[in-house]
Amino acid sequence: MRNRQALQLLFELSRPGRRAHRLPACDVPAPPPEQIYAPDLLRDRPPPLPELAEPDVVRHFTNLSTLNMSVDTHFYPLGSCTMKYNPKRNESLASLPGLVDLHPLQDEASVQGILQLLYELQRFLAEISGLPGVSLQPAAGAHGEMTALMMAAAYFEHQGQSARRKVLIPDSAHGTNPASARMAGLQTVTIRSRDDGSVDMDHLRTQVDESTAVFMITNPNTLGKFERQMTAIAELIHEAGGLIYLDGANMNAILGIARPGDFGADMMHFNPHKTFSGPHGGGGPGAGPICVQDFLEPFLPTPRIDRIGGQYRITTDHPLSIGRVRSFFGNIGVLIRAYCYIRTYGGEGLPEVSRHAVLNANYLLARLKDLLTVPHGERCMHEFVASAAEVKKRRGITAMDIAKRLLDYGFHAPTVYFPLTVPEAMMIEPTETESKQTLDAFVEALSQILEEPVEVLRDAPTSTWIRRPNEVQAARQPVVKWTACS
Ligand SMILES: *Cc1c(COP(=O)(O)O)cnc(C)c1O
Repeated sequence: MRNRQALQLLFELSRPGRRAHRLPACDVPAPPPEQIYAPDLLRDRPPPLPELAEPDVVRHFTNLSTLNMSVDTHFYPLGSCTMKYNPKRNESLASLPGLVDLHPLQDEASVQGILQLLYELQRFLAEISGLPGVSLQPAAGAHGEMTALMMAAAYFEHQGQSARRKVLIPDSAHGTNPASARMAGLQTVTIRSRDDGSVDMDHLRTQVDESTAVFMITNPNTLGKFERQMTAIAELIHEAGGLIYLDGANMNAILGIARPGDFGADMMHFNPHKTFSGPHGGGGPGAGPICVQDFLEPFLPTPRIDRIGGQYRITTDHPLSIGRVRSFFGNIGVLIRAYCYIRTYGGEGLPEVSRHAVLNANYLLARLKDLLTVPHGERCMHEFVASAAEVKKRRGITAMDIAKRLLDYGFHAPTVYFPLTVPEAMMIEPTETESKQTLDAFVEALSQILEEPVEVLRDAPTSTWIRRPNEVQAARQPVVKWTACS
């Protein structure tokens, strides 16, 4: 059990008159507050704030910061989320005063440096994706999906094909895919997967027609498998006049090895907070730059960052553009970290990142396949999905029990119950930044957990501050602030 004091509320620690500082009395005449503020803004008594000495406050917040798990404190194999180590150097570069003190309304001439950085990042992403048109504006992967689908709708309208409103999405896709399609005003159709996790081509063929706008595909898919029928799928969709959208959340497996533009994608997003090591957790901030084929470039959001006559320019004169999708230029802080990451590894280092990510995942898969079922074969890309269905049948232990017990062993849990197509799914993504020792320790913990009595697992976690919250309620109705009762 951790120190109870860690969670003791500042209000419980409060003692009347205690202060962190004491200012000398004011020695210049000050007007009475009524002369400065409107009367209805004035309080008739002080706010009920806690009264504390500085060490109490520092301890409180420092302790609070240790109550959760993070990449900096624990192995974090959260599948699909690519929780790789966030290099600290990128943090200090992103906080250089010349970058953080910029104002987004400064004129072009005074911000050539950051415009150059963002322009170069656009070029890097174009090269990695094989898709020349880039916008850095979207604020997250899901936002990138929506932006690109809005562009697709605008493109078809411009082509006189506004009847193309159907977005086809495999059943193994991330929930953001259908959500983004609906938010872009399009209709969704679910495409079945076969038992091996690949797209059911027969089903796809029955759904493709002249109303097909986009086929959204995650490749490697959420089962950690590269879709081998990719070329055939692209041919089928393109022949029917549709576009291919690639959900790029799994780019960590193929950086510099395979380019989406070469395997059929017309549009895609990157998740720099995953693939390019931007810190993420607690929902953000992220970024969702999109890359598109040249025929879609006119529809990119504005303003755009261009290079004209040796100067970096913010341009808005793009008549076919879908317009602005975010204030200013996107989540610049995340983009700067991505830029530093890409420059650090370079063209030769990025494929190494992917090779190590794939190697680590395959090593874990090979060691775990005797403990849990791995329904999709003995080889994977950068992640794989294991299933606790058999353990559940045999011993009544669920994926959730295992996930919760892992917390007691000092490991963040894998993603559980996603993808929806695998019962008792545990989606494991070790990333390239973990050592063999860490991976071995994780396997050891899992094998011990699977031997433990069911009651122990049902009761887990016992070492964390919060045991098993109602996760749906916590997400839908979060209680994020303390409310004074008096
Ligand atoms: C993370 C993820 C997304 C959404 O990206 P955000 O940046 O969280 O909005 C979409 N698809 C897949 C497969 C993902 O893993």
